[in-house]
Parts: sequence; structure tokens; C-alpha cells
Amino acid sequence: RKIIIALDGYSACGKSSTAKLVASALGYTYIDTGAMYRAVTLYFYENYVELTNPKAIAEALENIEISFHFNPNTQKSDTFLNNLNVEEEIRKMYISERVSQVSAIPDVRKAMVRQQQKMGKKRGVVMDGRDIGTVVFPDAEVKVFMTAELYTRAIRRQKELIEKDEIVDLDEIIENLQTRDRIDTTRTESPLRKAEDAHFLDTTYMTIDEQVEYVLQLATT
Ligand code: C5P
Repeated sequence: RKIIIALDGYSACGKSSTAKLVASALGYTYIDTGAMYRAVTLYFYENYVELTNPKAIAEALENIEISFHFNPNTQKSDTFLNNLNVEEEIRKMYISERVSQVSAIPDVRKAMVRQQQKMGKKRGVVMDGRDIGTVVFPDAEVKVFMTAELYTRAIRRQKELIEKDEIVDLDEIIENLQTRDRIDTTRTESPLRKAEDAHFLDTTYMTIDEQVEYVLQLATT
């Protein structure tokens, strides 16, 4: 029987790396919900949508279509916004600096949650995000809440950015992670928090393989 695996937690603590490998081990679909909020943020940015204008936001949301397509070259799934591959763009720092403000908007969340529930309807998915175990799939069979020490997360994020040729000071990354944590945990609409029935996992001193093993163990018992 196919299940839903919900991985929630703070930014850059290994959720997506773990989720991808768990999904491939189980033959499940990986859904990166952070990428969806990033794509919305990119659209708002490019179309000058004002975050204080509910009408403009509603209209923009009508015009946003997000999908994921497997890229045989990288063996990874890329994020598409209105049929354009935005995978690279949405990982850039200027999006990270704006995404938490956008994802705090209730109408944005409503639209994304609806899509995510549709994507996971047939189960057999690993979804990572902030509110998967609490809001999107409260009935997920496996829930893990992940965290890691701030400094470790910042180093990991910096490495990812360097691999993409974006050089960002560690201080700036630390500040961005802290700001996002703060906005994500204090917003009124489905703030980031551990679901009561979620397993708590601190990945500070764990390797990716150990994290994957931990989740697979939960999924297969
Ligand atoms: O996972 P990632 O760090 O790419 O997510 C980017 C941002 O998207 C988070 O900081 C958060 O503001 C938002 N997000 C969210 N709910 C989710 C996934 C991401 O609010 N389920």
C-alpha cells in the first residue's frame, strides 16, 4: 500500500536531499512544495504584483501554473512556471530573500495547498515543506520534523549556491535563514511547527545516508 511521507522543518536542514532519495528508493514521487512557493515568488517579482494588493494577488494566482518535469540530463525533477523551466532561477538568493513574505499570504497558501493535495491524492509521494504534516496531509502515514543547527544549515546552503556559481557571504545566508525561520514560524496562516505525531530529527551530525535510512525505516515498519 502506498503511503504519504511528510518531511517538514526549517530551511536548509536536509529535507529535500533526504526526500529525493527516499522517493527514489521507494519508487515514489517527490514533491518540493518550497519550489512552488518560490515559483509564485518569481512570478510576483517579474510581474510587479504588490503583496498588499489582494485583487492583484488573486488575479496573479489565476495565471500561475506550476508543474514538475523529470530532466534526463540531471536525473532530477525541474520546476516549471507556466511551462517555463525556472528551476535555476528560483534557487537564487533574491528569491530566497522574498519567498517567506509571499508564502505568508493566506490566498497564496490556499492555492498551493489545494494543488499539493491534488498531487498527492493517489499517495505514493514524499512531500517536503513547512505545513505538510499539519495542514496539507494531516493523515500522512509518516511525518518527520527536521532541524539542524543554524551554522550547519548555512554552510550546507552556501555549498549548494557555490555549486550553482552563486557566491554569497555566510553572514548573509545566516541572516536569510534566520529571517525566514522567524517569518515562517510566526505567520498567522499555518505557521511552521511540528505536528504532534511527527518524529523529531536533528540532522546536525547526520549524513544524508543516515537521514534517508531513518525515514525509510519509518516508512517500511
Ligand atoms: O523549502 P524551501 O526553503 O525552498 O522553501 C522556501 C520558502 O517557502 C520557505 O522559507 C517558506 O517561507 C515557504 N514554504 C512554505 N510552506 C511550504 C514550503 C515552503 O511556506 N510547505
